Amino acid sequence: MKVYLDNAATTPMDEEVIAAMIPVMKENYGNPSSVHALGRQSRAIIEKARKQVAGYINAAPSEIFFTSGGTEADNMVLRSCTEDLGVNHIITSTIEHHAVIDTAQCVEKHNNIKLSLVNIDDKGYIDLSHLEQLLEENKDKKTLVSLMHANNEIGNLLPLKKVAEICKKYQAYFHSDTVQTVGHYPFDVRELKIDFMTCSAHKFHGPKGTGFLFVNSDLQLKPIITGGAQERNMRAGTENIYGIVGLTKAMEIAHKDMESHEKHIKGLKRYMAEELKKVLPTIEFNGDPLGDSLYTVLNVHFPHSDMDEMLIYNLDIEGICVSGGSACSSGSSVGSHVLSGLGINQEQPSLRFSFSKYNTKEEIDYTINVIKELFGK
Ligand code: PLP
Repeated sequence: MKVYLDNAATTPMDEEVIAAMIPVMKENYGNPSSVHALGRQSRAIIEKARKQVAGYINAAPSEIFFTSGGTEADNMVLRSCTEDLGVNHIITSTIEHHAVIDTAQCVEKHNNIKLSLVNIDDKGYIDLSHLEQLLEENKDKKTLVSLMHANNEIGNLLPLKKVAEICKKYQAYFHSDTVQTVGHYPFDVRELKIDFMTCSAHKFHGPKGTGFLFVNSDLQLKPIITGGAQERNMRAGTENIYGIVGLTKAMEIAHKDMESHEKHIKGLKRYMAEELKKVLPTIEFNGDPLGDSLYTVLNVHFPHSDMDEMLIYNLDIEGICVSGGSACSSGSSVGSHVLSGLGINQEQPSLRFSFSKYNTKEEIDYTINVIKELFGK
């Protein structure tokens, strides 16, 4: 049996998304910047997609900038905010995705700005009173707060509206990396009063290499990729028209069936957590999986055994794809910065199981049985 439980890394594409992209690949090869009929058709497809995507988050079409995905969208905000918005102070956290934390560190080094890290509690939630304290202490500075909506490793959710209100109180800009949550939760940027949010299509059954940045219409950023007037001078380069069509279709499907997908996936996550506890009672969960947690992610801290480092590979041999959260199991030379930020012992293996609408209870039962056998239970 093949079981794919690594959906926070990427999701399989929806057949309907592929079907929507193929005719565009075959027929709409005109460059959207060309003035002839084929070019104009491509331009019309992109602008229709922009309008549709904007509608799903209650934004104006002019607030949506298509990108190559989440990493680029995060970079656009963090790298442009100093010059264009006069930002000289960035607040973020140690458990952000590398697209944010590495970029913020780079901006700190090269643009001579102050970088502050907000505390997290032992469950992985952002300490909002510390956030206020940092904003209060740096009132003389222009601050950008960049905090992710859902952590991609442990799943903790940030109360976006509350954070946006705190940012407004201190006239700070608010960016959220919403890569793990767009397509899984409804968004209303007007109600949230958020300045920037990022999206990546491959996290909700769309194609890889495509996403968008939402920029509140009151704000203007200069491009970090120059060399053309595409995306209203915000992002040079011939548009990925197939990707944009795929992203839009994936959003359409996600929004149509969001509630039923959420119910199904939440059920699988809860079931897996309960069954794991029955098999290995000393198992622990990283983050707060049954609290304010992304319903697609379950991060499991396994008890020590003689196959610690081999657990992820043993699952792989049995056809089960998951991600590791520790040095050895993920194949990376350094441990997870998220788990170390939480003070979790990475000598014992932590694995991230992440689910999608395509997973079934039978797949979870199979995975539990494999784990049972691996641990000799
Ligand atoms: N931000 C988060 C929270 C992610 O999980 C990811 C993907 O792993 C990214 C950003 C990067 O997105 P992309 O793969 O589209 O560059």
